[in-house]
Amino acid sequence: MDKVILIKYGELSTKKGNRNFFINTLSSNIAAKLSKYDVSIKKDRAHMYIEFKDSELDNIRRDIEKVFGIHKYNIASIVENDIEKIKDVVLKVINDNNPKTFKIETKRSNKNFPIHSGDVNNVIGGYVLKNISSIKVDVHNPEMLIKVEIREKNAYVYYKEYKGAGGYPVGTQPIGMLMLSGGIDSPVAGYMALKRGVKLECVYFEAIPHTSIEARNKVIELTKKLAEYTNYINLHIVNFTKIQEAIYKNCREDYCITIMRRMMYRIMENMCKAHKGFAIINGESIGQVASQTLVSMNVINSVTNMPVIRPVACLDKLEIIDIARNIGTFEISILPYEDCCTVFVPKHPVINPKNETAIIEENKFDYKSLIDEALNDIQTIKVRAEEKEFSDLL
Ligand code: ATP
Ligand code: MG
Repeated sequence: MDKVILIKYGELSTKKGNRNFFINTLSSNIAAKLSKYDVSIKKDRAHMYIEFKDSELDNIRRDIEKVFGIHKYNIASIVENDIEKIKDVVLKVINDNNPKTFKIETKRSNKNFPIHSGDVNNVIGGYVLKNISSIKVDVHNPEMLIKVEIREKNAYVYYKEYKGAGGYPVGTQPIGMLMLSGGIDSPVAGYMALKRGVKLECVYFEAIPHTSIEARNKVIELTKKLAEYTNYINLHIVNFTKIQEAIYKNCREDYCITIMRRMMYRIMENMCKAHKGFAIINGESIGQVASQTLVSMNVINSVTNMPVIRPVACLDKLEIIDIARNIGTFEISILPYEDCCTVFVPKHPVINPKNETAIIEENKFDYKSLIDEALNDIQTIKVRAEEKEFSDLL
């Protein structure tokens, strides 16, 4: 029996004006994701149909469950538009599952099909009852709900619904630049932004020799995990060593983190301009550490007019960890290598910094030229989900 993966656009249809753009983006994302399989993808106004080889179904399912914009999908049997054939397929499906009660629900978008949908329900239901003596119809709470869709070319019979990744197709929003550290929070923030359709680029601030190559590799591994939800992700690695050293040499210790983060934001704003990014995204969470009190965020944020999106701002750490476990980043994030934030932590970072003080402290060194230097010393790596070797230096 021929089968097909059936994806309904129902959940995307709220985007009336943009419907075609959303559907086309979704279908090219699916095509890219499934390019390694022997599949054929077709679409009409209401559905996308993916024909596949049975032996590849498990892998295909695993992959399409990482494509945002699919809320649920079915695996349907394809049947000729012939009531006798449809009856037989439904009977087989029921026999294979052996439920005590059932219900048939028919949709007939092909108005040339000679039997109305209510009558199709009755004809098929009657046929099932005649052939299986122990089974009953239950219209309110059936053990098995079988859907029959009669469309232009074929009819589709299915009963199981699978959960997709939800969200909007990646690429329906422009680029957002994620500040990606090796911690737990920022990969989760990246995942949440991708889920809203944002095309993600990542920025990692590195402070070699104070941070190790292992810390960098960890960020690369995290980027690979995020890339599972899209085609590839550009990871920009900023050499932050001189800025960090200058801060610790020249500024009041309790303001070092505040100033370091202001420098990061300044660089992020420049990166957004250079890469057509429309927002800075990060893993800040209100109250988590001294630099993430509302007062700190305000002082840090005041160096840029770019929108700063903080997807995990209002989540508990345990809620963030739950998501991190689900997306497979947690195990990577808890590897021990320190990143530049954790290397230079002052004993008592200021919790309620003042903007004027931050300005005085950061003007104790020529940060503008150091920022320019850092912007000229960026390595960009194109990271794909399944790359084992990391050779794709741009
Ligand atoms: P995470 O928040 O990812 O668990 P963390 O807790 O070590 O890492 P924080 O000190 O809480 O990081 O920093 C808050 C946010 O700032 C991070 O979520 C991340 O978005 C960004 N950030 C911190 N350090 C770096 C870095 N070295 N490179 C890029 N972004 C960073
Ligand atoms: Mg954090």
